[in-house]
Amino acid sequence: MIQHFINNEFVSAAEGGAFETLNPTTNKPITNVASGTAADIDRAVRAARAAFDSGPWPKLAPDARAKYLRRIGELIEKHADEVADAEIDDTGIPVSQIKKGAIPRAADNFYFFAEMATKITGESFPVEGKFMNYTVRRPIGVAGLITPWNTPFMLETWKVAPCLAAGDTCVLKPAEWSPISADRLAHIIQEADLPPGVFNIVHGFGETAGAPLVAHPAVQLISFTGETTTGQEIIRNGAATLKRYSMELGGKSPTIVFEDADLDRALDGAIFQVYSLNGERCTAGSRLLVQESIYDEFIARLEKRVRAIRVGDPDDPKTEVGPLIHPEHWGRVRAYMDVARAEGATILVGGDRPPGFPEGNFFTPTLITNVRNEMRIAQEEVFGPVLVVIRFKDEAEALKIANDIRYGLAAYVWTGDIGRGHRVAESIESGLVWINSHNVRDLRTPFGGSKWSGIGREGGHYSFDFYTEITTIHVALGLHPIPKMGTGGG
Ligand code: NAD
Repeated sequence: MIQHFINNEFVSAAEGGAFETLNPTTNKPITNVASGTAADIDRAVRAARAAFDSGPWPKLAPDARAKYLRRIGELIEKHADEVADAEIDDTGIPVSQIKKGAIPRAADNFYFFAEMATKITGESFPVEGKFMNYTVRRPIGVAGLITPWNTPFMLETWKVAPCLAAGDTCVLKPAEWSPISADRLAHIIQEADLPPGVFNIVHGFGETAGAPLVAHPAVQLISFTGETTTGQEIIRNGAATLKRYSMELGGKSPTIVFEDADLDRALDGAIFQVYSLNGERCTAGSRLLVQESIYDEFIARLEKRVRAIRVGDPDDPKTEVGPLIHPEHWGRVRAYMDVARAEGATILVGGDRPPGFPEGNFFTPTLITNVRNEMRIAQEEVFGPVLVVIRFKDEAEALKIANDIRYGLAAYVWTGDIGRGHRVAESIESGLVWINSHNVRDLRTPFGGSKWSGIGREGGHYSFDFYTEITTIHVALGLHPIPKMGTGGG
């Protein structure tokens, strides 16, 4: 049984409720999880508030906080296998991508923000001889961190690390379809001996645990990663208590391949960027735009490779694509195949359960052609191993197609002309662009989306624009004139 983690203790749900988390390879239950309600959220927020108001955390010297964060990073490395096994069982992400990717990155999130904790600075604005004006950044209070089920451990640590580095305290509400690795994080943080109440977890569903966290008056910050429609609802629900938001939302990111690109590398990048992590990836390059002159050749090569992607047991090191997270999500992805066909697109590869996998949420890596950009299959986030291909004539048309969508999270541009690479990158309405690369992260850079893909940026010092408050202090250095009122003068 997985319990909430409040005030450094594992506790049952106030109302005693529980839910099952399933292994997506078999859809058999792994364990029961405490199902949080408003009472649990209130208890956790009170603990976090007390830790902020009367505990040592927000006032600790930055290097003392950094030491705690480094210790958490080390403990993640120490328990890496155990966390990875839990994550694979709970999410179906292949072991190779978890062990070499998501778990080391989670440790890096803590090491990186340990460094950053010591680099939180202010600015000064001297007014020659008259004033010294300057800014200080201070922690804000209690943050509500709400996370999705895709690569949960990595995404949770991506929020917890900067939040703690800034001196805030938090309540994490992990996704109900993948709660186990968050519980591993609670054990790690307990082992790191953080002061009680600094880090808390309440498990449960969006409506019953997430919504009361958003509505709680003692929570000032909401960092949310998930679907755009959920983000909209959260902003509505937090309006009465005027929250500050960081919103990392959905995407339908273009991969644009120009005729002058290194086509071997473009092919590798395009495939990895949509089919890795089972296609359940916010920055997936799920719309492939290919220049007309190379279209036939490129698609023939792509088709061959997609047919050869190895679907299988996520525990097998050779597996490249594992099962989708949940039967409900499988149904959603499958339903998009009917939408695509009805719109006149061609499902060239995949589109259903692969032969030989009668149970679990396996979905064949899918390639869809004859797609026009206005089709739903080109405009909506499928969030599975599904790639749609659209052809374009020239740079202007590529840009028009790339931008003609509500989302704007990531884009991948493949070209041998560096001038064109920059030009296109600057004109794409997107928070992130990679030129001649898949998604290779640099934690110092701002991460986030534009348009329907998000509000705000996290990463590097940008995280502290969200997790800290700026106070501007004005100091008079001399006897500047103060207009006198009420002295009886004319
Ligand atoms: P989701 O929106 O269904 O759920 C995310 C979290 O919100 C879960 O913990 C859920 O319980 C909670 N939630 C749901 N309703 C809520 C409510 N009313 N109030 C408060 N909390 C609520 O998203 P998901 O299906 O878990 O994740 C997939 C989505 O996340 C995709 O759209 C994907 O693109 C997006 N995503 C974005 C990024 C990014 O950085 N931009 C990263 C990863 C995932």
